[in-house]
Amino acid sequence: MCSDREADGMYVQELSLAFTRTIAGINRELVSDIGFHLYDVMRLRARAFGPRGRTAGIGIVLHHETRVLIVGGGPAGLILSLQLARHGINNMLVERNLDTTKWPKMDLTNCRSMELFRRLRISEGLREIGVPPEYSFDVIFSTGLAEGGEEIARWKLDSVNAWRKRIKSQNNGTLPREPYQRCSQAVLKAWLKPRIQAQKLINAHFGLKCKSLTETDNGVESTLTDVRTGEQHVVQSKYVMGCDGAGSHVRRSLGINLLGGPVAFLIAQDEVNTWTLHTPIPIDADWEKIDPQETVYNALGGPSGPWPIKIDEILVKSTWRPNICIAERYISPSGRVFLAGDSAHQNIPTGGYGMNTAVGDSFDLGWKLAAVLNGYGGELLLKSYELERLPVAVRNINHSGTLWQRWARIWSSCAQVRPDILSQSKLGKAFKAELAHSFLTNDGENQDHGIEMGYRYNASPVVVGDSDASEPEWNFRHYVPSTWPGARPPHVFLADGETSIFDLFGQEYTIVDFSKDGKWAYEFGKAAERLCVPLEKVHLPTEKHVRDLWERDAVLIRPDDHVAWRSPRDHTKFEGDVGDILEIAVGLKGNLEAGVQIRERALDEVRQKGFAGTVGNVNQDNVAMKAGFQK
Ligand SMILES: Cc1cc2nc3c(=O)[nH]c(=O)nc-3n(C[C@H](O)[C@H](O)[C@H](O)COP(=O)(O)OP(=O)(O)OC[C@H]3O[C@@H](n4cnc5c(N)ncnc54)[C@H](O)[C@@H]3O)c2cc1C
Repeated sequence: MCSDREADGMYVQELSLAFTRTIAGINRELVSDIGFHLYDVMRLRARAFGPRGRTAGIGIVLHHETRVLIVGGGPAGLILSLQLARHGINNMLVERNLDTTKWPKMDLTNCRSMELFRRLRISEGLREIGVPPEYSFDVIFSTGLAEGGEEIARWKLDSVNAWRKRIKSQNNGTLPREPYQRCSQAVLKAWLKPRIQAQKLINAHFGLKCKSLTETDNGVESTLTDVRTGEQHVVQSKYVMGCDGAGSHVRRSLGINLLGGPVAFLIAQDEVNTWTLHTPIPIDADWEKIDPQETVYNALGGPSGPWPIKIDEILVKSTWRPNICIAERYISPSGRVFLAGDSAHQNIPTGGYGMNTAVGDSFDLGWKLAAVLNGYGGELLLKSYELERLPVAVRNINHSGTLWQRWARIWSSCAQVRPDILSQSKLGKAFKAELAHSFLTNDGENQDHGIEMGYRYNASPVVVGDSDASEPEWNFRHYVPSTWPGARPPHVFLADGETSIFDLFGQEYTIVDFSKDGKWAYEFGKAAERLCVPLEKVHLPTEKHVRDLWERDAVLIRPDDHVAWRSPRDHTKFEGDVGDILEIAVGLKGNLEAGVQIRERALDEVRQKGFAGTVGNVNQDNVAMKAGFQK
C-alpha cells in the first residue's frame, strides 16, 4: 500500500500560565491548522505584558514542528516553499526581514526559469507585474546622453511578444517554451510574499532570524529570534533548507567552505521610472561620501561630462562586492540540511545567472524532497541534488567570470582613449568601429542558451544512461535539442500548432510514448502503480514531427522536465525491466560513483585555478565591503 503523508504541527511551551491553559485544550491537529494565527495572538499577548525585558523575563519560547524549515525568503526560499506546497508538503518559511527587499538586484528571469515558473503556475502573474511584452530588451552602447553622444552598438534582443512569435514559427525544438521576462527582484518578491502567505500549506513568518541549528538523530533543531520582540522560537524539523543568501548562517553553521574570490551599467528596472546604476569604485573609496546624483549624471554624460536629469528619489545607495564562489558541499553529512541559491554559490550579474541558478536549485530540491516525504522517493534522490546542481553552478559562475573579463578588457581600452571616443577623427572612428565589433562579438548575456537551457545532469544517480548513442555536442551559445538522459528535452508544438508537449507533462513523472500500441505507457503504468509513483501517461502515436525531434519511442520525464530515461533506438532490443528504470529514477536504487567524480572534477578545477575572473581563492567569510544582502 502507498504510504500516507504526515502532517505538520506546532505547539507552544513555556508561556505565561494563562496562555498555556488556552493552548492546552486545543487539539493538536487544530493547532497545526491555526498555527499562524496562534503565533499572532501570542505576539499580541506578549506585547500586552510589557516591554522586551519582561517578555524575556517570563521565558517565552515558542516551539514549532514542521517537516521542512526554509531559512530565507529570497527567490530561492520562496520558490522552494511554493514548490513543496505544490507537491503537497507543509513547510515553514522564515525570513529575518519584516518586509521584502528594496535591493533591485536581479532584473532578468531567463527562459528556463520562466518554463519552471510556468510549472509552478506563476509565469503569467510575473508577466503582469514585469516589463510589458511589447518592450524590446535592446541593450544600447553609447558615448553618453549629452550632446555629441552617439550610439556605438546595439544588442538586438527581442521583446516577449517577438519571442513568442519566433517560438511559434520556428517549431524545431531549439527554442524555449517560454520567453524570458524582465522584472526587478524587489517587485517579484513583493508580489510573491502575499501569495506565499495565502498558501494553506506554508507557514510563513517574516521577522524571524535563524540563530543556530543542531542536527539530531531524527532531524534538526533550529533556534530563531523574533526581530521585533526578541522572543525565541525553537523549530524541530526533519529537514532545513538554507536559502539565506550570500552570508548564509546555515552554511556557516555547517562549517562548509566557500571556494572563489572577489572580481557600470544602467538598468531600466520597469521601463517606467525605476532605474539602477552600478558603477565600479576603488576598493578603499569612502562610498558614503559619494554623491549618488552626481554619479548618475556622470554615468549618463559619459566623456562629455555630467548630464543632469531630474531624480525624484534615491531609493537605495550602497556598495556591494562582486564575488564569485561556490560551497564545497550543498548537503550536510547527515543529509538533513541543504543549501540552495546564493548560500551555495555567489555570482556576479554578468550573464544574469544568480537568481536563475537559484531557481533551478530550488526546483530540483523541491520536487525531490517532496517525493521522499510523500513516501515514494529514495535517499539517492536527495543525494542527487548536489551532484546535479553543483557542476551546473560551477559552469554558470565560470561563464559569468568569462563575460566579466571581456567587459573588463573593453572598459580598460575605453579608459585609455577616452577623449578620442567622441571625435570624428580617423582615430576616433577607427576606435569606435573596433569597440562596436567588441560589443557585437561579446553578446553572450541573455543569448547563451546552451548555458541557460542546455545543462545536462550527466552521471546523475537518478538518470539512466543511454549506451546506445553518444552524447550530443554541447556548447554554451546554443541549446542543442536532445532527449539525451539528463537533458531538458526539446519543446515542440504538436500538430495542432497550439499545444506544447511540455503542457502535457504531469505534475510528477511522465512517460511519453510515441509507439502505435502504447506498450511503454502500459508497462510503466503497471510498474508505477506497484511502486506508488505518481505517473502521467502521454500516448502520442500520430505526432510524427515531435517523435522525430524526440528521437525515441518512449521517454521518461521527471517533475522538472528533465529526461530520466529513454528507450533504445531499436525498441525490440529492450531487454530490461521498466520497474528497475523507475526505481532508479525515484532514487530507490542506483550508484553515486560517477556523479561524485563529476562533482569532484568540477571542484578540483576551482581549487586549482579559481574561477575565470577571480583573484585566486579567498576566504569569503572575511571579505570586507559587503552590502546588506551579502551579510
Ligand atoms: C546588482 C545585482 C544584479 C543582479 N542581476 C541578476 C539578474 O539579472 N539575473 C539573475 O539571475 N541574478 C541576478 N543577480 C543575483 C540575484 O539577485 C541573486 O542570485 C538572488 O537574489 C539569490 O537569491 P537567494 O534567495 O539565494 O538569496 P537572497 O536574495 O540573498 O535571499 C536570502 C534571504 O535570506 C534572508 N536571510 C539571511 N539570513 C537569514 C537568517 N539568519 N534568518 C532568516 N532569514 C535570513 C535574507 O534577508 C534574504 O531575504 C543580481 C545580483 C546583484 C547584486
